[in-house]
Formats: sequence, structure tokens, C-alpha cells
Amino acid sequence: MKLSVKGPSATRAGGLAAIAVAAWLLPYGLGSYSIHVVNIAIIYALLAIGMGLAMGISGQINLAQVAFFGVGAYTLAILTTDSGYGFWAAAVIAVLATVATGLFVGIPALRMQSHYLGIVTLGLALGFINWITNASVTGGADGISGIPLPTLPGIDLSSEYLYYYLELVVCAFGLGFGLFVVRTSLGRRLRAMRDDSLAAGAMGAEIPLLRMTAFLLASLYGGLAGVLYAGLIRYVAPETFSIGNMFILLAMVIIGGRRSLVGCVVGAVGLTLIREWLSDFSTYAQLGYGVVVVLMVVFAPTGLAGIPSRIREFANRRRRSHTEDRARLRPFQPYEAVETPAAADEPLLEIRSVTKDFRGLRALDDVSLTVRPGEIRGIVGPNGSGKTTLFNVISGFYRATSGQVRFGRRATTTARPYALSLLGVARTFQNLRLFGQLTVRENILVALDRTRTHTIWQYAVWQPGVVRRERQLRRQAQELLERFGLTDFAEAAPGSLPYGIQRRIEIARAMASRPRLLLLDEPAAGLNGEEVQQLARIVRSIRDSGTTVVLIEHNMGLVMSLCERVTVLSSGGVIAEGTPAEVVAAPEVIEAYLGDSAMADVPLPEPAPPQAPAGPTQASASAEASASAEASASAEASASAEASASAEAPASKEATR
Ligand code: ADP
Ligand code: MG
Repeated sequence: MKLSVKGPSATRAGGLAAIAVAAWLLPYGLGSYSIHVVNIAIIYALLAIGMGLAMGISGQINLAQVAFFGVGAYTLAILTTDSGYGFWAAAVIAVLATVATGLFVGIPALRMQSHYLGIVTLGLALGFINWITNASVTGGADGISGIPLPTLPGIDLSSEYLYYYLELVVCAFGLGFGLFVVRTSLGRRLRAMRDDSLAAGAMGAEIPLLRMTAFLLASLYGGLAGVLYAGLIRYVAPETFSIGNMFILLAMVIIGGRRSLVGCVVGAVGLTLIREWLSDFSTYAQLGYGVVVVLMVVFAPTGLAGIPSRIREFANRRRRSHTEDRARLRPFQPYEAVETPAAADEPLLEIRSVTKDFRGLRALDDVSLTVRPGEIRGIVGPNGSGKTTLFNVISGFYRATSGQVRFGRRATTTARPYALSLLGVARTFQNLRLFGQLTVRENILVALDRTRTHTIWQYAVWQPGVVRRERQLRRQAQELLERFGLTDFAEAAPGSLPYGIQRRIEIARAMASRPRLLLLDEPAAGLNGEEVQQLARIVRSIRDSGTTVVLIEHNMGLVMSLCERVTVLSSGGVIAEGTPAEVVAAPEVIEAYLGDSAMADVPLPEPAPPQAPAGPTQASASAEASASAEASASAEASASAEASASAEAPASKEATR
């Protein structure tokens, strides 16, 4: 997805102009009933854009959209009829009230995983429907009539033909704004959160606030649609805001393509027209939509809008082999080396007696560790010895059961992942966690973006600021892609690339924030000999550029050649620490390794150069062996990341059991 900062290309501009002219001329060819249907379709299109932003872009299930629609319409109706407000003043208040409702609905999203969110938002929608059907202020089942006509100087909006143009302008702005959000910093973060909220957190995204933002956006569009609807029909009643209509809205978004806002609009307009056309058979039509939705979910989960890119993906996959891909990987261009200050005695990372329990299992047992600036520290140990858990504690995914973590001069034991990222801790993951639906370039852009979520006010009032920052980020991304030799893959989907390249992308992404501390979790797992050598060069250059590196690795050749000091973990405790040569000679270490059958065949002692690493088969075998541990770790990590929204993390409670 390209941001057209310099203006759309000529063909695109031509296409847009053609659509604009067609939209402008449309009413001339329509009868009075048809234009009414089109007006309704545009209102649904706005609702669908809001749904698309929350569900497709941000990955937050939102079944309250119809309630947002209702809050907008009913607030306007009540203010204009009971309280005597003018239409436009009431419209502004109605949209604000809807956004406030959206933020309220978003509160559960602070703590909840998506599927529960579906139930909660549905519950809120049902509660709203119940309220408008029974309350006297909403006119009960009769609804509210007598909403005044919106006035615009010189335009008679009682004509549905002219009302069409009002709606068209609002919808065009709505779509334009939505696309602007999706293609710039905020939307990229929302999409990163959808693809992998843990990794997004590690890249500095404030996940709870982003979830709220998703609901804020959805409700904004819901409120606009509600206001336009009330002005068009000038009567509101509960049946418009029913669960049945919520389902239709969902069908529009799923059929059109939830990840594409244009797809959402196409789905909304298309289904409104089809629904009208089938209005004589409405019972069967409902059934039909249901069947179509199920078929879409099974065969084309990205909807109509996603079909072209799926075809393209398929074609690309057949055309390019992984060998060709590897050949296109350019060499890494080293960072400029800096002098580490001589007085680097103060530790950069300090772990003091950290213990981490998982339901009776002690994954870390009184671990203490000090890393000085400018070091490359190796962490080795048999599978399941707590290495990844240690990284998760350092980077804020897990909260230590007891003990303290200090980074720089701060105590960071309870800091959240995004805060640690902003402080200068970056990491990679044992099992790659790239954002699958983002391009390689976008993966890097997410991590380059160091702004806090509250800067999204710029989207509301100062869009040029957003564009300027975007240009700057894109320049930096290009530099980083060149440095890591990834320019040929910039627009590729990471999942389509060979494993070795994905590992390099993860390191590039982690380095995007220019961290002070880089945590690499088994970066050589699954790499071939040549790739391991390149990795060693990259890690050395990163250290020389002033970033301290802590490296978990099974490939002893790599550890021996890279690390000045090595810490050995076994069963959650530190059993040895020292230079690589000291460590491999320690009797505890030999015993720990020989006791672990999975590692018994690792060539431990002799200090091998990086040219003779453990063979690729072995490396991938150990990657697989630890894959299941990581899988369960990630489940817990997401649970604790959710929980960290509250002051008391349940993770620490359950650990005491
Ligand atoms: P390593 O990275 O050294 O292979 P880990 O840190 O992944 O080891 O795991 C250490 C131990 O902690 C293992 O026994 C693993 O099963 C356990 N563990 C890790 N994460 C969790 C979790 N979220 N829930 C329960 N047990 C976990
Ligand atoms: Mg691990």
C-alpha cells in the first residue's frame, strides 16, 4: 500500500474523476423512489466504514455499530424536538454523544480479548434497543417524529435529490479520512495490533489506547450516519436499529471485504440495493445473506475486495522460489561504529533475584544478572531452562513474581512493553512475530514510529503534521531497508519470504527504534551456515554502533565467537557465568547439558569459529522443540498483557497458588 504523498498517479486521478462525475450525474437518471434507496445505501456505507475500521483494520469485534447509529439518530431527534435545538447544533452534539458512547463501549476492550468483546458489544447493543423501545423520552415503540428539516442556505434539503449531494459529500470525506488513517501512522499501528498485538506492544504501541481508538473511529462514523438518517427520514423508531440490521451490516462488511474500506462501501451499497430488490421475499433474503456470509467466510475471508490481492499473492508464490528470494537479499551495510564511553561501569540492565512462577512451575528461580553497556551477552541453557521467560520479564510481557529489573537507572519491573520500547529496549521473538498482513516496509514503519497514541489529535485538527511525519518515517524506513539489504522485499508480505530473510527483517524491525538494548531470542535458529555468518556480522555491527546485545542462542559456535560473557541457565537458575571458555569447562554446565537429552548432541566444549556452527537440521530441530514452549508462553503473555491494563496483574495472583 503506497501513500501518495505527491498526489495520486494520473490513471488514479482519472479513475477518481470518472467516479466523481458518475456520482454527480447519478440522480438525473433515477426516479424518486430509487434516489431514496440510494440515500439509504450511502448511510449504510458510512456505517460500514466505521465497522471496517474497528473490525477489519483494528481486529476488534464490534457488534454495537447499530447502537452507535441509534445514539446519533436519537440524540438528534430528542434535541431537535424536545429541547428545541436547531438541526446542525443538535447534529454536532449528537456526533459527540456517539463518540462518548464509543469510548464507553471501548472500556471493556481495554481488558478483553476479541471474542468476549463480541459478546459485550452485542449486549450493549441489545441494552440500547431495549431502552429505546421502552423509555418515554425515546417515544417507545412509536419512536420520535417531527424532526425538523436540516437547512442549508440556498439548498432545499427536502428534496431527496439534493439531500443525496449532502450525503455524497459527507461520505466522500468519511471515506477519504478513513483511507488517510489506514495508510498513515495510526492505521498502521491499528493493523499491526490486529496482526499481532504482543509484537505491536513490543514495538511501542499502546495497545489498550489503540483499542479504544478503534471504537472511537467506529462510533464517529456511526454518529454521522445517525445524523444523516434522522435528517433524511425525519422520524426515528426502534426497528431501524434492530439486531437484524446489525446482522445485515455485518454481512455488508464481510462480503465487501472488511480489510478494505472501499470494499466495505461496495458491500454496503450492493447489499442495500439487493435487499431492496428482494424486499418481496425478505424472509428468504435474510436466509440468503446468511448463506452468502458463511460461504464468504469459508472461501474468501477477505471479502470481494480481497480477491484481487489473493490472486496476485497466488501468482507471486508460483513465480518466485525461495532460492531466488535468497539471491536477492543484499549484503548488510554495517552501522558506523561509535566509541563506547570508557566509564561504562554503570550497568545498563540489572536483574536482581528475579523469580517467575507459572502455576506451581518455577520458570525463573532467583536469577541475578548484570549487563554492561557495549556488551554482547550470551544466554545459553537447555530447552525449558527459562531463557525466553527471562526475556519476557525484561521486556515487560511477564511481571516477575519477585525480584527487580532495572534498565538504565530506572526500576522497570512493572513497566509495560510499550514503555520499555520507548525507553530503549527492543527484542525479537523465538518464533517469528512479524505483522503478517503488513508489507516488510510497513513492519519497519510501525517500529520506527516513536510517537505516543495521544498524538492522534493531529488527525482531527492538523493533518499536514501527520503527512510531514509520515514522509520522515518513510525516509528512515528506506535507509533501514537499504542497510539490511531488504530493498527488494520492501513491498512483499513477510510470510511469503524464506525463513532466513524473515529473521533478518525481525532484527531490522527491532533496530528501527535505535534501542539501547537489543534482546535476540535464538536468532540463528533455522539459518544455514552462510546466514549464521551474516548474522554474526550484523550483531557485531549493532554492538559497535552503541547498542548493547543480549543473545539467547543454541548455536554454540556463534555464542563462542560473538559473546564476551555468557550466562548459563538451567531449570530456571543461573548455574554459571563467565567467558565462553570458562563456561563450557564448568562441571555444572557439562552436567546440565548431558542431562538434557534434547541437547546431548550439541557440540558443546571446543570453541568453534562461526564457520562451523551446528548444522541447519539441528538448529531447526531445536527451534521446533522449543516452538511448543513458546506457543504456550505466548498464550500466557497475551493474558498478562491484557491483565496489565489493571493495576493488579492476575498473572501474579495465580502464580502464588
Ligand atoms: P527456554 O526459552 O529456555 O527454552 P522458556 O523460558 O520458554 O524456556 O520456558 C521455561 C519454562 O517455563 C518451561 O518449562 C516452560 O514450559 C515454562 N513456561 C514458559 N512460559 C510459560 C507459561 N506462559 N505458562 C506456563 N509455563 C510456562
Ligand atoms: Mg526459548
